[in-house]
Amino acid sequence: MWRQLKWRIVGGNMAVVIAGATLVLLMTQIVTRTVVPEPILAEVRRLAEASDPAGAEAATAVLLETFRGTIISAVLVGTIGAIVVGWVSSLALARQILHPLNQLASSSQRIANGRYDERIPIPDSDELAGVATHFNQMAQALATIEEQRITLIGNVSHELRTPLTSMIGFLEGLMDGLFPSSEETYAPMHAEMQRMQRLVDDLQTLSRVEAGAIEMQKRPFLLCLTVQQVLTQLQPQLVAGQLQAVVEGREAPVFVHADPDRTAQVLLNLLSNAIRYTPPHGTITVYLRRSDQLAQVAVQDTGAGIPDNALPLLFERFYRVDQSRARRSGGSGIGLTISRRLVWAMGGDMTAQSDGLGRGSTFTFTLPLATKPDS
Ligand code: ADP
Repeated sequence: MWRQLKWRIVGGNMAVVIAGATLVLLMTQIVTRTVVPEPILAEVRRLAEASDPAGAEAATAVLLETFRGTIISAVLVGTIGAIVVGWVSSLALARQILHPLNQLASSSQRIANGRYDERIPIPDSDELAGVATHFNQMAQALATIEEQRITLIGNVSHELRTPLTSMIGFLEGLMDGLFPSSEETYAPMHAEMQRMQRLVDDLQTLSRVEAGAIEMQKRPFLLCLTVQQVLTQLQPQLVAGQLQAVVEGREAPVFVHADPDRTAQVLLNLLSNAIRYTPPHGTITVYLRRSDQLAQVAVQDTGAGIPDNALPLLFERFYRVDQSRARRSGGSGIGLTISRRLVWAMGGDMTAQSDGLGRGSTFTFTLPLATKPDS
């Protein structure tokens, strides 16, 4: 029974009431027996002598005893009253505290069983209201995570279904003899397999970067060299897309303190997107700038552009402005999610701007500047 908070509260209150009452009783006994105030004593003697001068002593004793008895009875009645009031009020207090706690316990049990929509009412008291508010916020956060998990599973299965369906179609065609066993049949199958592999690789990188499991090898390096390396790597795609690439701001050396390989990965994603979404004869410009503590890289293109309502969603997993076109062109829809996470992990941030469809886009990311360029 004493393991229950309710009985501890009641017991604690009762102990205080009983200790107080015992002390009052004890003090009443001591005071009335030893130090009856002189004015009371004098008055009692005067009354006793007035009524019976011979038996004044005995009458005084009787009167004093009656006086003591009356006081002790009054204190005893008061004590019983205090015990009853203390019992009732501590039960009410226990209920007031325990009711929200019991609600909290049963709600957390329901959440543990997967009922993420569970919320508890906010009690009157400030402290309990604080606990309930935090509990509800936690439940909301869990509900959001669960929603994201379900969406992620749905997205991943949807993304994998497309190449798998196509592969099954090719294989069935081969088995039925509808497709010849030739390069023409195997090449698209190979492309689909590569698409799947890219998606699985991206998913693995995403899960690692979101879990903070990617170790950053940060060191100072010259930003324009990395930009140049990535552009050289993308030269064949630039030529194939009949696109021109320009780097602005390379004359002022911008040293950053970041992971050069991960920075190259981010640049590769932004420049590949710019190439993919810019029609022939367009221009892709990389701007390198520096402010007090940050280096800024902006990749601007003259391509498809992005509508206003899509801008806030670009960095969400699997988001594509034009679902069918982007999927056909081989994008997994998680490149930007990975890139922004990588930039965050290096201490920077990434944003996207566009004046609308057909008016080009600019992706900008920042990185911390190296304190000693030559270290
Ligand atoms: P994907 O692999 O599909 O390109 P990303 O995460 O890299 O995935 O990009 C998400 C979406 O953002 C793309 O599907 C595309 O709709 C849009 N996008 C990204 N970069 C550009 C760009 N430079 N111009 C226009 N749209 C872009």
